[in-house]
Amino acid sequence: MAWDFETEPEFEEKLTWMRSFVKEEIFPIETLKLSYDQVVAFIRPLQDEVKSRGLWAAHLPPELGGMGFGQVKLGLMHEILGQTPYGPVVFGNNAPDSGNAELLAAGMEMTGREDIRERWLQPLLDGAMRSGFSMTEPNTAGSDPRLLKTSAVRDGDEWVINGRKWYTTNGSVADILIVMAVTNPDVHPYQGSSMFVVPVNTVGVTILRDVGAMDHPDVEYGRFGNHAEILYQDVRIPADHLIGPEGSGFLLAQTRLGPGRIHHCMRWLGQSQRAFDMMCERALSRFTHGSLLAEKQTVQNWIADSAAEMQAARLMTLHAAWKMDKVGASASRDEIAMIKYYGASVLHNVVDRALQTYGSLGYSADMPLEGMYRAARAARIYDGPDEVHRQTVARHALKRYNPSEIPSDHIPTRAAAAREKFAGMLEFLETEKV
Ligand SMILES: Cc1cc2nc3c(=O)[nH]c(=O)nc-3n(C[C@H](O)[C@H](O)[C@H](O)COP(=O)(O)OP(=O)(O)OC[C@H]3O[C@@H](n4cnc5c(N)ncnc54)[C@H](O)[C@@H]3O)c2cc1C
Repeated sequence: MAWDFETEPEFEEKLTWMRSFVKEEIFPIETLKLSYDQVVAFIRPLQDEVKSRGLWAAHLPPELGGMGFGQVKLGLMHEILGQTPYGPVVFGNNAPDSGNAELLAAGMEMTGREDIRERWLQPLLDGAMRSGFSMTEPNTAGSDPRLLKTSAVRDGDEWVINGRKWYTTNGSVADILIVMAVTNPDVHPYQGSSMFVVPVNTVGVTILRDVGAMDHPDVEYGRFGNHAEILYQDVRIPADHLIGPEGSGFLLAQTRLGPGRIHHCMRWLGQSQRAFDMMCERALSRFTHGSLLAEKQTVQNWIADSAAEMQAARLMTLHAAWKMDKVGASASRDEIAMIKYYGASVLHNVVDRALQTYGSLGYSADMPLEGMYRAARAARIYDGPDEVHRQTVARHALKRYNPSEIPSDHIPTRAAAAREKFAGMLEFLETEKV
């Protein structure tokens, strides 16, 4: 009977250490207003501590310096790290660097090219290089990457890239950008797109701006976590900056996005739990209209619904992670799609209820909830808008059914069939007056 909800004791010990490390050492840094360089100075010693415990960049296989944990363990880890924006950075698995490292590793595996490790992968893993993932364009629908317009044309020993991208997270602090471009417009987009490493200082790369957004409305150029708009104008890069075989862009994207979604969902759960803790504390502390908030049924409903939704999202996400470990990302597509939209909505709803419980204090920047709410809103858009994932799940579910003019459960039709099936029995009962 292999149906087990326990974490093995050795790994539970690691999780216990992570919980206290994140709370004691990382939470306090959140409250300081720091420049990018100051953040780096603060987190370097913490990163060294993580490295010395063998927990650095755990998402990668051991031959690439990771831990080979598999998705369930990584998921449990991300639930803890996701409680604070600096958690993943301290553990060497923050987006987009971790996903980009996975892309580079997948490219290495597909081509057997060892040089990729030394040039880009190792520096990314060491935290000596920063990266951005440049796929979404302002003028085509990011929800359907088959529509991408950015092109890469082979010219001798070089590729020439032209296009405009935006929302390249960390683009303005990155050393390299991983760019998705159309390399063959004459075949199906699934075979006609490729990914490239583009060093930011290449001639023709212009970071136009950091886009002001809900997470940073008063954007200050060059901050960690900003989203850059980038113009690629006759950008020439050597042919060996292609990652994986030509035409493998979608395949690579799939490699990156499957595990990434599990980690996102577990990080969202970490944030939901934080918001939940804040909500419960306030409910027990605020007195109004003759009783504590904790005694009002509406607030109790918020607490009960949040607890149930978080539990459901957690089990769904760990199940998706388990399935991915067993049968791979492709066979787990529905589970991964489900946790994307379900997890994003749970995060949004729990943070929203917590914020409401705090009233004006929740809306104020004296509590982290307003920032968490803005970040939660983005979760419904990035990593593929929720509607696209819902569509995937619904499409696959519908494939298991056939149209029927008379509904299969139409009671008069079923009754007629049952009368025919049991005619002998019915006749016997009637004759015997049973
Ligand atoms: C905080 C944040 C960080 C991001 N970071 C990156 C990054 O690092 N790199 C990068 O390349 N991109 C990044 N993105 C971009 C993100 O991937 C895109 O925003 C996303 O893919 C949606 O594309 P779009 O914005 O062009 O929306 P559109 O494609 O224009 O879609 C708009 C809306 O249409 C609806 N819709 C779309 N398809 C369907 C459908 N089939 N059925 C029903 N409704 C539908 C959805 O509600 C959707 O929100 C980031 C976005 C955010 C918000």
